[in-house]
Amino acid sequence: MTNVVNVKNIEKIYGTKNEKKYKALSDINFEVDSGEFVGIMGASGSGKTTLLNILSTLDKPTSGEVLINNKDVTKLKGNQMADFRAEEIGFIFQDFNLLENLTAYENIALPLSLQGKNSDVINNSVGKIAKKLGLEDILDHYPTELSGGQKQRVASARALVHEPAILFGDEPTGALDSKSARALLETMSKINREDNTSILLVTHDPFSASYCNRILFIKDGQIGQELKRENSSRAEFYQEILDSLGTFAE
Ligand code: ADP
Ligand code: MG
Repeated sequence: MTNVVNVKNIEKIYGTKNEKKYKALSDINFEVDSGEFVGIMGASGSGKTTLLNILSTLDKPTSGEVLINNKDVTKLKGNQMADFRAEEIGFIFQDFNLLENLTAYENIALPLSLQGKNSDVINNSVGKIAKKLGLEDILDHYPTELSGGQKQRVASARALVHEPAILFGDEPTGALDSKSARALLETMSKINREDNTSILLVTHDPFSASYCNRILFIKDGQIGQELKRENSSRAEFYQEILDSLGTFAE
C-alpha cells in the first residue's frame, strides 16, 4: 500500500515572540493509505482544525514533516504551494465557502479555470462530477438559490473536480440538517468506495465518524488512540465509537 499522507512528529505552537505561547499540537504521527477514509475525532479545542490546516498547506507546523504523495508540503513556498494545493488537494469546510457571485457551475469549475484548463476539459470534468453528485439540474443556480445540502454538494464537487490526491473535510456536515448531513456522508462514502478517493474527515460528531474506516482520537493536541472499523456495520461502528469516547474522555 502506498501512503498518500505521512505525518511525522508535528508540533504546533501558537504565539510569536512577545505573545503568550500555546502548544496546540505535539507528537502527531500517522499515515493515510491511498484509498482510505480516515476520521479525526476530538472535542472542540482539541486541535483538529489546526492539524487539518497544516496538512492542507493553509498553515505551517512549528516543527515536523507532512508528506503528501511523498512531497514535504511544509517546505513549499509561494507559487509552488499554490500550485500544489490547486492540483493535489480538495477541501470542504463547514460553511461551504462558495463564491456568491458565481453560479454552481462556475464555482465547481474554479480549480480548473485557475489551472488554465481549456473549456472542453472543464465542461467534461464539471459534467462528470456534477452527474456523480446529482447536481445537473442546479448548475446554473447561484449559491443564494440553493439549500445548505445543495451548497455543500456543490462545494464537494469543486473539491473533487480536479481529482485531488486527497479530500480534506473540516466538520463538513456541521451546518447541515440531519437529512442533508446523512446524504453528504453517503456521497463521501460512495466516492471513497467507487473512485478510491482518499478522504480525511475531521469531526466531533460520532455519527459522521461512523462512516470512516479508521478513526484517530485527538485530545489536547495529541493522538491518544485509534479505532478500526474491520467488519462492523456502520451502526455497530457507531456504537464502538461511543464506547471509545466514553473511555477516552476519562
Ligand atoms: P478544534 O478544531 O479541535 O476545535 P482548533 O485547532 O481550532 O481546535 O484549536 C486548538 C487550540 O488552539 C484551541 O485552544 C484554540 O484556542 C487554539 N488556537 C487555534 N487557533 C489559534 C490561533 N490562531 N492563535 C492562538 N491559538 C489558537
Ligand atoms: Mg475546528
